[in-house]
Amino acid sequence: MTEPQRPTSNRANWSLSPAPAPFEDEARSSWLARAAHRHHLATFEMAAIYGIDLAAADLGSHETQLAEIARRSRLSDWPAVHPVVDGLALIGRLERRVRHRVEDWWAYCPHCLEADLSGNGLYVRQQWCEPFSVICAHHKVWLRPWPSSAETRTIDGQPSFVFTEGDFAFREAEPAVIQTATLLRQPAIAGWDRWAMLVLDLGDALLCRCGPQGQEPAALFEFTDFGPWSGIGARRPGRNELVSCDVALRLTMMRAIISLVSFDPATATSSPNWLRELVRANSRAGVRRELLPGCGDPLFRLFARMNDDAANALSRRVEQWPAEVRVRAHAALLVGALANHA
Ligand SMILES: [Zn+2]
Repeated sequence: MTEPQRPTSNRANWSLSPAPAPFEDEARSSWLARAAHRHHLATFEMAAIYGIDLAAADLGSHETQLAEIARRSRLSDWPAVHPVVDGLALIGRLERRVRHRVEDWWAYCPHCLEADLSGNGLYVRQQWCEPFSVICAHHKVWLRPWPSSAETRTIDGQPSFVFTEGDFAFREAEPAVIQTATLLRQPAIAGWDRWAMLVLDLGDALLCRCGPQGQEPAALFEFTDFGPWSGIGARRPGRNELVSCDVALRLTMMRAIISLVSFDPATATSSPNWLRELVRANSRAGVRRELLPGCGDPLFRLFARMNDDAANALSRRVEQWPAEVRVRAHAALLVGALANHA
């Protein structure tokens, strides 16, 4: 194998073969990162040379460049995209607007990574980069955002990934989370498209500014420990924000979405005082006490917080959701409308 050349200032002279053979379940961005390191380049340097947005590559972009790198490396194949990405494209909900460095895109499983580092070498799995990913399918632990300082140059100038012991701390996922996460990663099962649309719509709703005029922080702030931020948040739900947002936001949103989705109304034991008051105040208008047992439902809280524009936009999407959530959503919309007009 010939020694790879470092790129010179003349782009035409850059020689970037060979690339390593991909692992079976490797993300495209990971394969490109390992190719970069083989050429003593940082990952972003490799991406700049080929004009590749690494996160977009995981979402199906840059097929031509990937084929070219494989061809020059005498490889017959390069990593595929995750089935969830194909599934999102099929239902017309794939968004390839990506604006991040790759380390702001990668999630990882602490167990898998620790095993990699003492085994055949580190690589990022396809399943950590697909938009709905939230737990490791193998270890059933919550994925974590890739540490942004993990890529470094060693003393001899070689780029590599360095992890510390603390990076391998893990949190086990609850059974309800595992059940939902497992369903979401299988586009082939019947009804997946409805669940996918539900997840994307809830993600968009969580990013809405939720005051009456859309002036308050996004709903996500109230559902998670993610602080208020100014980068995202409109008066109306966006479109498929979850697909291309950075890893910390995506994992936070998925945590919130899964808790919204996996809530069982039968377990609701109490309803907030303000909601009981609302139902009482509106009883003459035909709002029935039967709504109350479901008022502990977090969907109620979400819809009640939405501004009018956001609630209307969201209500038009509800018909595409799975039937069991649709019933909850209709009740939530009614209570949300009452709250907004109280
Ligand atoms: Zn794992």
